[in-house]
Amino acid sequence: MEKLKRRLKNMKESSIVKWNFLLLLVLICALLFINQYEIQYFANAFYDVDKRPLQVFWLDVGQASSTLIVMPNNSTMLIDTGSVDSEREFISSVKLILQRNNLKDIDYLVLTHPDSDHTGGVVALMENFQVYNVLRPKILSASVLEVEAENLNTSTSLVYQDAITAIYREPNCQVDFVNDAILNFGETYVQIFACQNDVYAQTNDYSPYINLVSFNRSFLFCGDASSDREEEFLSSLSQDNQNLDVDFLQVAHHGSKYSTTTEFLQAIKPEYAFISAQDNFHPSGEVLTRLHENGITDDNIFCTKDDGMIAVGVSDDGNFVIRTLSNFVDLPLIVVLVCLCVWEFVALYEINETLKMKNIFLKNRKLLSHSEF
Ligand SMILES: [Zn+2]
Repeated sequence: MEKLKRRLKNMKESSIVKWNFLLLLVLICALLFINQYEIQYFANAFYDVDKRPLQVFWLDVGQASSTLIVMPNNSTMLIDTGSVDSEREFISSVKLILQRNNLKDIDYLVLTHPDSDHTGGVVALMENFQVYNVLRPKILSASVLEVEAENLNTSTSLVYQDAITAIYREPNCQVDFVNDAILNFGETYVQIFACQNDVYAQTNDYSPYINLVSFNRSFLFCGDASSDREEEFLSSLSQDNQNLDVDFLQVAHHGSKYSTTTEFLQAIKPEYAFISAQDNFHPSGEVLTRLHENGITDDNIFCTKDDGMIAVGVSDDGNFVIRTLSNFVDLPLIVVLVCLCVWEFVALYEINETLKMKNIFLKNRKLLSHSEF
């Protein structure tokens, strides 16, 4: 009788262990299929941004730059594409944001200048998405597809060459040089202030200024423009008697000290600053000081290095939310810990049951020995 009991108990225990192991295995397999990016997106309440008609995302692409805009009329615009190294993160985040908005294509791609930290993701972008319009810098690549133009500079960068080849090979895609323009997306518009000259000493200065205006909110994107280009931009604004009152500024050149001068900040008066950077030299202390001196507190300065992907969602009344992907949630680890807890709980339950049975057995034996007397 005792032997039989023990055998039954062993069977019960081994089946619990088996089921727990199986459950753990199933959960781990399921997690392999769930997009980790999607988990982080939910854990950091990015769904608050999805609900707003205007959405601006500074993608986390390392020491590089890429910004994705979803307009209120569901048009999409990408400003730069990050580097070749950040290609995987770049494509997954674009995919996720488009999916969340039930969108598939990129309506506009603006390449601010030829540097590889801005054009490195173009080939992967074209492979994964339909892009309908590209605005490219007025600088030629060494690509065989380029038509020689005597008044323009040529970049020897292989990354830029691959990018230019990819954009001209993209079917149903209109490619133009960046020029002064106003693009309308319903009541939202994007004003492009192209560089004034055909030739600049540094590639960074080909960067246009891009001003997005929607629901009385204004964003300014500066590419990698240096202080010389800032001066050129400010003087063209004053010539046209145009004032920009910027709410959200993408700080130029990853926060380099050679851009974002006090004069520039005083002219555009931004309230929030966004920096795309990863290395130890960016953003520079000088630029952070200038931002502080111009009334932008640390709470209103965001950097992909610390905050991961950053998003601003604007409602039609002009109210907005800012979300960051800084809180990393390690879901697989949480699942494993929960399974271990369940396992422990079951084991404790089993020990408790065994002790109970032992007590009953001892009690019965006592009663039996008493009755024998
Ligand atoms: Zn750059």
